[in-house]
Amino acid sequence: MEIFRTRKELSEYLSAPNNIGKITGLVPTMGALHQGHLSLIEFASKNCDLVICSIFVNPTQFNDARDLEKYPRPIAQDIAKLESAKCDVLFLPEITEMYSGDEKWLIDLGTLDQQLEGELRPGHYQGVTQIVNKFLDVIKPHKAFFGQKDYQQFLVILKMVQILNIPVELVMCPIIRETDGLAMSSRNVHLSADDREIALNLYKSLLNAKVEFPDAEIPDVEEQAKQFLKSVAGLTLEYFSIRKADTLEFPEPCKKSGLIALVAAKAGNTRLIDNIMLS
Ligand code: AMP
Repeated sequence: MEIFRTRKELSEYLSAPNNIGKITGLVPTMGALHQGHLSLIEFASKNCDLVICSIFVNPTQFNDARDLEKYPRPIAQDIAKLESAKCDVLFLPEITEMYSGDEKWLIDLGTLDQQLEGELRPGHYQGVTQIVNKFLDVIKPHKAFFGQKDYQQFLVILKMVQILNIPVELVMCPIIRETDGLAMSSRNVHLSADDREIALNLYKSLLNAKVEFPDAEIPDVEEQAKQFLKSVAGLTLEYFSIRKADTLEFPEPCKKSGLIALVAAKAGNTRLIDNIMLS
């Protein structure tokens, strides 16, 4: 695997004669790689000739300095995992390589930026779009691969790509879970054994909602999930919401197609998100 730390080196490599005409796929990550990330590399490898993974803990998308500081960075292990996954290129820039001084970035993401994760993490999606736009600009991939795990993030990036007219195909890949159902996440390393048990209730609430949803009113399904999650000691519920999957708007009464349930909660001090397609 080739490793590049500067945009210039990466661009030169990608525009070398033996790479011209290859279908390129980008998998942007913040590292601390797990099977969820590696599944994206696998999807990309099946669909592209050249797979580029980026590892960059992007400071502009963190609204909590402590969260940024304690974000895991096991880079040697990440490199080994990418080598085993047969990733072709790792882009591993320093912060100064991606940001120069006082940069301004503001994109109108409409209501996507003001609800759910957008509401609870002000500025988060501005930071996400800012860095993903930079990666798309340097790498100019034909395809970029993202996980359903960060469903709202996928919609946000799709919106940015449409607004800025960026010629890239975005591919959403399924959520990879531990055998007990916990969605894989780099933040799971922060869970104590007790927190990890508590965290399983997020997926449980989503599965219950999926079972109940065909025969129940949507507000009742939401209410039941919220009551269940609030009753779990050690779990702090942030939201459980059923939305239209394409826009994340509230569903219309009695319309039960194209819906998704999304949940965010803290198990101990670790913030987790998860979701499930209901129909
Ligand atoms: P992150 O490193 O957390 O920024 O995630 C990088 C990419 O991996 C994003 O597109 C995530 O949605 C995706 N991802 C994270 N966890 C999972 C998972 N459990 N299953 C599938 N994709 C995931």
